[in-house]
Amino acid sequence: MCIAPGNTLSHAIIFVIIALTILLLLFQLSIQILTKKLFMKCYNHSEREAVVICRACGKAVCQECGLETENGFACQRNCAKTLAGINEHYAGQAAHLRNIKRMNFLGSLFSIGMGLLFIYFSFMGYGVVYDLLLLLGAGFTFYGVMAQLVNMIIFLKSKNNKPD
Ligand SMILES: [Zn+2]
Ligand SMILES: [Zn+2]
Repeated sequence: MCIAPGNTLSHAIIFVIIALTILLLLFQLSIQILTKKLFMKCYNHSEREAVVICRACGKAVCQECGLETENGFACQRNCAKTLAGINEHYAGQAAHLRNIKRMNFLGSLFSIGMGLLFIYFSFMGYGVVYDLLLLLGAGFTFYGVMAQLVNMIIFLKSKNNKPD
C-alpha cells in the first residue's frame, strides 16, 4: 500500500476512527467481563450458559438447574429452603411489628380512657386532690393522643415504605 502525501490527512482520520472503534470494543468487552455477562456459565454445567442467579447463595446456574420458588430463583433445594426461611423470618418480623402497633394502639386508648376518667372524677369535688386529679387526667389524655398520633405517623410511613 502506497501513501500519497496529499492523502495523509484522510489516512490519519481513518486511523483515528479505527483506533476509536477498537478502544470502544475493548471498553465494551471489559464492561461485559466486569458484569460477568460474557463468561458466566452454570455452576453445575460448565458448558452451559447461566441464566439465573440464586437469590440465596448468588451462584449462577442454567435454566435447568434454576429452581423457581415463590420467593425467587434458587440454585438447589437447600437454597430454596434458605429462601423460604428468609421469607418466613420477614413474615415473622412483620407480624411482630403489627403486634407492637396493636399494643401501642391499645396502650394509648387505655391512657386516653384513664385520663378522661380522672377528669370526670376531678369534677366530683373541690380541693387540691381534685385539681391534681384533673391535672393527671389531662396529662394521661394528652399522652394518649400524642402516642396515637405518633403511632399513626409510623404506620403511614411503613405503609409508604413497602417494598412492592
Ligand atoms: Zn444457591
Ligand atoms: Zn446447570
